[in-house]
Amino acid sequence: MSIPGQIDPVPVARDITPRADGRVDLIGLPKARIRELFEAAGLDAKQAKLRAKQVFHWLYHRGVTEFEAMTDIAKQMRPWLTERFVIGRPDVVEAQHSNDGTRKWLLSTADGHEFEMVFIPDADRGTLCVSSQVGCTLNCRFCHTGTMRLVRNLTPGEIVGQVMLARDSLGEWPKGKMDFAEDADEAEYTADGRLLTNIVMMGMGEPLYNFDNVRDALKLVMDGDGLALSKRRITLSTSGVVPMMARCGEEIGVNLAVSLHATNKEIRDEIVPINRKYGIEELLAACAAYPGASNARRITFEYVMLKDKNDSDEHARELVRLIKHYKLPAKVNLIPFNPWPGAPYECSTPERVKRFSDIVFEHGISAPVRTPRGRDIDAACGQLKTAAEKKSRAQLDREAAEVGRAEA
Ligand code: SAH
Ligand code: SF4
Repeated sequence: MSIPGQIDPVPVARDITPRADGRVDLIGLPKARIRELFEAAGLDAKQAKLRAKQVFHWLYHRGVTEFEAMTDIAKQMRPWLTERFVIGRPDVVEAQHSNDGTRKWLLSTADGHEFEMVFIPDADRGTLCVSSQVGCTLNCRFCHTGTMRLVRNLTPGEIVGQVMLARDSLGEWPKGKMDFAEDADEAEYTADGRLLTNIVMMGMGEPLYNFDNVRDALKLVMDGDGLALSKRRITLSTSGVVPMMARCGEEIGVNLAVSLHATNKEIRDEIVPINRKYGIEELLAACAAYPGASNARRITFEYVMLKDKNDSDEHARELVRLIKHYKLPAKVNLIPFNPWPGAPYECSTPERVKRFSDIVFEHGISAPVRTPRGRDIDAACGQLKTAAEKKSRAQLDREAAEVGRAEA
């Protein structure tokens, strides 16, 4: 049976996006690759190694965007670097601020593809929601991103570039705003003095359909010489790409979130169509085997609350049964459905959500209800979709029907 829109894995896994000026963007490349490029450009092995180490530090530790600012690199060397290389950032097309403090950026790749990134400040943390693809091939029925038809994998540079850009915008590089916290609005800062403390791979796209690039980007985020964010502060969310889950644990080692959303085949097949390929049992078995999962590092099950679809007492009890049956160290995140134009579902009532949460809690499993953030600027879960691609589900269905008729 063919699953509409489901193509895997998505091609275009280049690590370097070619540029019109022929220079190479260093952001997203591992230190060893930078060293190779320096050697290929004419430096001897020893020089290449030293320069790669210095440049890497400036890029990820200090956040500079000009080689001229790299003061421990010989003056005559800096123009040599500038001629051949660049330090890129995604282009900012638009930046929006929600009245709850959430920020959303519409970004563009060097070749003109648009995608989004969201920053969610809280009292004790600041979470950056990072995209892994432009659009998504998976068509979950409640998700706006899934209605985008244009899909391309983001490169490691475009993924880690989001984190760099967020740090630029928040003024969080050493010698940035952070050093002058007394002058800044300190109330905004978290205990360790930083706004950006956590990363979730929950923006546009299915990260496990772009595994290599997501892994390479997160390695730079976790690198002690790089952005140095602990893997405990990073969560990757998957709709259930079962064959890639073990590698995610082994090769990236971050926290896992799984978009479960339903407890039986019929409903999950409808709302998360990848379920027709990798069913609930297979998915939960992969969760039970997830490397690194323990009571201290639980797997998060995301569950979107859709009125009269997946929100009954029975569904809540079945969710508990499944988690216990597979002996999963789990917590459940209940996400009130965030509406978008043409969406085929409504959000469950607050009473229903509360009751569902209580049932799961009563069985000893944490099931907080997530407060939607940034709804006024379409920045909440599942609302991301770039303007160029804003077509309603109804319009897409009409177009699909027309194609069907033409083919018949
Ligand atoms: N593709 C990945 C990660 C991005 S989506 C995944 O599906 O897991 C991040 C979370 O938002 C997922 O749990 C997703 O199912 C959920 N979501 C999508 N659309 C939503 C909507 N309209 N309302 C609430 N949550 C939504
Ligand atoms: Fe893609 Fe995740 Fe949206 Fe499903 S919920 S369409 S996997 S982004």
